[in-house]
Amino acid sequence: MENAWKETLDGGDVLLIDGGMGTELQRRGVPMDKIAWSGAAVLTNPDAVRETHEDYIRAGAKVIITNTFGSTRQMLEPAGYGDQIEAVHRGAVELARQARDNAAERAVAIAGSISSEPPGFDRDGFLSPDKELDAYREAAGLLADAGVDLIALEMMVETTHAARAMQAALETGLPVWLGVGCRKTADGKIVSFDHADLELAAVLDALIPMGPTVVNIMHSEIGAIPEAIELVRKRWSGPIGVYPESGYFTKPNWNFVDVIPPADLVAEAIGWVAAGVRLIGGCCGTSPDHIEALRTAMPELEAARSA
Ligand SMILES: [Zn+2]
Repeated sequence: MENAWKETLDGGDVLLIDGGMGTELQRRGVPMDKIAWSGAAVLTNPDAVRETHEDYIRAGAKVIITNTFGSTRQMLEPAGYGDQIEAVHRGAVELARQARDNAAERAVAIAGSISSEPPGFDRDGFLSPDKELDAYREAAGLLADAGVDLIALEMMVETTHAARAMQAALETGLPVWLGVGCRKTADGKIVSFDHADLELAAVLDALIPMGPTVVNIMHSEIGAIPEAIELVRKRWSGPIGVYPESGYFTKPNWNFVDVIPPADLVAEAIGWVAAGVRLIGGCCGTSPDHIEALRTAMPELEAARSA
C-alpha cells in the first residue's frame, strides 16, 4: 500500500499527478476505438501504455492513473472485448506497476480510473440500472483486487450514473477521488461539462455527501476553473484537485489544437494553488512536458500555497 500521496495532501502540500493518458496514447499513434476509446489499449498496445506511465513518472508524477477510463463492461462489451474485462483491468494495473518499477525514484501511487461513460460516449447506450451498477462493481473490484491504492472516478458529470459508479467505488473501501468536469456558458454559468442545463453545483451537492477523499475538477476548460474551485470550496473542506483539458474532442479523437503551453499551465496552476487547490496534473491534451514544467515550478507552487 502506497500512502505517500495521502500524507502529502494531509500535510497541506502540493501533490503532482500525471497528465492525459488516452489522448497521449493517441498522440503516440495508438488508434482510438469508436466505442471504447482507449479502453482496450492495455491489450492492443501494452508497450505504449507502460512507456506513457514511465514518462509521466520521470516527469515528476507522484500518482499515475491506470488506462481503464473506457474499460467498464458498459464500454468494452459492445466494443467486442466482453470476455476480457478482467484481463484489461489486471493488465492495466500490472503495466502501471511495471512502469513504477522501471522509472520511479520516489513513492508513486497507482490510481484505478473508472468512468461512467456509455459506449461511444452516446447517452442512449447506458446499460440498465442494475447491469450498470454491476459493471462499475466489476471494474472497482478488479482494480482493488489488483492492488490499486485508490479509485479515481473520472467524468462524474451528472448525478444518476455517477452515483452508481461512486457507490461501487466506495464499496471497495479504498480512498475515492471524485472527478467532476465543467465549462462556462455564454451567460456565465458554470455547468457540468456538456450538460448545458445542469449546474456543476447540483452535481457537487449530489455526490460530495457520498464521501470522497478528494474532489477533483478534471477535464475542464481552463477559463471555468477559478469559479469551479469556489463552488467546490463552498461545499467541501477536504483536498481539492485540478487537472484540466486542453484542445478539443471529435469522437473518437482528440484535436491537439491550441494546447496550453506548459509555462502557461504553470502560471494558471499557481493561481489555483493560491485559491486552495493541492492536487495538480493534466487531463486530455496534456503531455509529460506539462507535468515536467509543473514539477520544475514546485517551489513557486509551494510558495503560492502559503501566500
Ligand atoms: Zn480528459
